[in-house]
Amino acid sequence: IIEKTCEVMAVRTHSRNLELACRISPDTPQYIKGDPTRLRQVITNLLGNAIKFTEKGEIVLMVLPTGKEISSQSPQYLQFSVRDTGIGIPAEKLSTIFEKFTQADSSITRKYAGTGLGLAISRQLVELMGGKIWVESKPQEGSTFFFTIPLEETTPEEKPETAVAEPEISLQGWKILVVDDNTTNRLILRETLTQWGCKVTEAAGGAEGLAELIRAKSEGTPFQIAILDSRMPEMDGFTLAQEIRNNPDLSFLSIVMLTSENRSSDLARAKDMNFEAYLIKPVKRQALKESLQAIAGKKRVPLQQQTPSAGKPLPEIHPLNILLVEDTEDNRFLILAYLKNTPYRVDTAENGAVALEKFLANIYDLILMDMQMPVMDGYTATREIRRHEQNEGRKSTPIIALTAYALKEELQKSLSAGCDAHLTKPIKKQLLLEAIQKYAAASIVPGKSS
Ligand code: ADP
Repeated sequence: IIEKTCEVMAVRTHSRNLELACRISPDTPQYIKGDPTRLRQVITNLLGNAIKFTEKGEIVLMVLPTGKEISSQSPQYLQFSVRDTGIGIPAEKLSTIFEKFTQADSSITRKYAGTGLGLAISRQLVELMGGKIWVESKPQEGSTFFFTIPLEETTPEEKPETAVAEPEISLQGWKILVVDDNTTNRLILRETLTQWGCKVTEAAGGAEGLAELIRAKSEGTPFQIAILDSRMPEMDGFTLAQEIRNNPDLSFLSIVMLTSENRSSDLARAKDMNFEAYLIKPVKRQALKESLQAIAGKKRVPLQQQTPSAGKPLPEIHPLNILLVEDTEDNRFLILAYLKNTPYRVDTAENGAVALEKFLANIYDLILMDMQMPVMDGYTATREIRRHEQNEGRKSTPIIALTAYALKEELQKSLSAGCDAHLTKPIKKQLLLEAIQKYAAASIVPGKSS
């Protein structure tokens, strides 16, 4: 509802050359129980006013859970705010604008046509939903209207009944450069992408973005995706995209272009330039996620290209998301050092219990599991992981056991716990890299069931 309402209002915003951004705090539950019609109406009223009373700058709709109870950890309300950089409201009018037929300045009514009813209706609707509405404003600087609604979390009614859901393509560890002149947009993109496990760098303009892309490439840590705002002063997104496409060093980079709806010429150009994806602002989270997953899915290198022979340098491969479970700091340090100059992103856990928690909250391409650990050992953790995968119809994550003994029984024990392979300590770098490639590659080949 929130994103859809923004989408509808975006047309008016963009036609006035204003930015409209929608920032949904990552800890906002995806589904809550409530009245969609009333909620939509209030957001529309507030965004409508913000657009009406703002000549230049930006309008930001923000949503976050708020009001923690003292006794429990759960938030009680969902707080919405609509911030603008418009004309503002004089202090003496702040208390009356929610009353019927009140307008902050009667002399401006002719310039800004209106009935003086919108806020009174909004207040009524918010109160009917069990919340509160208020405003903070400074003349000439802008206004922020806040309202809350009680937060009652729920799950969607129709849950898909498919027994085995396709596992989501992980975005963990993807290096993404966000190029946008608008600070709020960059912040929102960073917040969203980081939530999905991406590594985000920001650039405030085209030239800065290009320099960053070239620098990262020359240092051997290239970006995989660039998200570009089409409209920027000086070097705009299209010019930057052209520079990227003209640079053979950046040929591996996928481009996601963000355009504005009312600019049909922008859309036509975006289609013409064959970007990996283009999205209309304000960007919807699901659409962004799907675009990035489509890119991530395509970039994965098929298995037959991924079987290196011993001793040879490893080919450039997909950045895997690895969980390293190891209680000894020295061993963690060693393995992290081995994996430092690879495209792999490594998360660590110091015992099986922490590993299990991380496994449930993330999607990993591969797990390196020490077997002897305090709290919960590797055998138990592996069994638990396998149990969860089965219960949830999740694809089997390759698990490589790391053990101290080269005994046959040890190997058998880890295999029967559910590990796919086994490495004996002290771990050798080359063997580790080969094992990671072999097992992770097998798991990411489309259609492979395990
Ligand atoms: P109207 O139809 O006049 O906009 P509202 O009840 O929606 O009626 O708003 C009442 C008054 O509050 C407006 O006339 C305006 O003076 C002030 N106001 C509302 N929103 C804003 C805003 N975002 N910035 C500045 N003034 C605002």
